[in-house]
Amino acid sequence: MSVASRLYQLQETDSHLREKLRFLKDAVARLEHNEELSLAAAELATQQDGLEQARKQQRQLDWEVDDLTAKILAVNGKLYGGSVQNPKELMNLEQDVQGLKRHLKVREEVLLDAMGVAESSEAGVGSLRKQVEELTAAWEHERESLRLQKDNAELEIERLTQSRNLLRSEIGPDATGLYDQLSRAKGAAVVKVELGRCTGCNLTIPTGQWQKARAGEMVGCGSCGRILYVE
Ligand SMILES: [Zn+2]
Repeated sequence: MSVASRLYQLQETDSHLREKLRFLKDAVARLEHNEELSLAAAELATQQDGLEQARKQQRQLDWEVDDLTAKILAVNGKLYGGSVQNPKELMNLEQDVQGLKRHLKVREEVLLDAMGVAESSEAGVGSLRKQVEELTAAWEHERESLRLQKDNAELEIERLTQSRNLLRSEIGPDATGLYDQLSRAKGAAVVKVELGRCTGCNLTIPTGQWQKARAGEMVGCGSCGRILYVE
């Protein structure tokens, strides 16, 4: 096997290795974080806070309404209990009752609104909680398959790294040094010759060069400098 064909093999191996490493990185990221779920969970927490506030306000209003109702009962008790006879005092009590009733009516309306807010907030929290549960279940399922894919990628990376190291030691430092230099500068260091042309820069290869490359000699493209590989 010629050096050029081994270098081509090395390039293919390096390319697979990079692909697997990218895949592994992506799988690890997807195992650790699920953006959709995080956003839904954060929204649920916000809405739960809102619901808590709405319930608190509702309880507060409930107490106010109870308190006002008790006060009205107490004043009515005095008004009709017979213990107060003074007309002026009775009139004052009557005014007190009317004032308390007006206040009660306003607070009851506010309470009704608050109940409506709490109810719709509760429905929102319920559907969000369901969404978070579904997303969590789907993610757990996905994670099972991702763990398998991750394990496979790690094995494949180990295997590719071994082949790569073996190839490099077989090829030797001079040729791998040139390969590394060309890879950094041009992406692909080794290119195939197809229909007499360098597939790196598309220029025609002189017949002499092409024949040398085909015979297994290390030949660089006269135009782009990449190592030519003839199958
Ligand atoms: Zn070229």
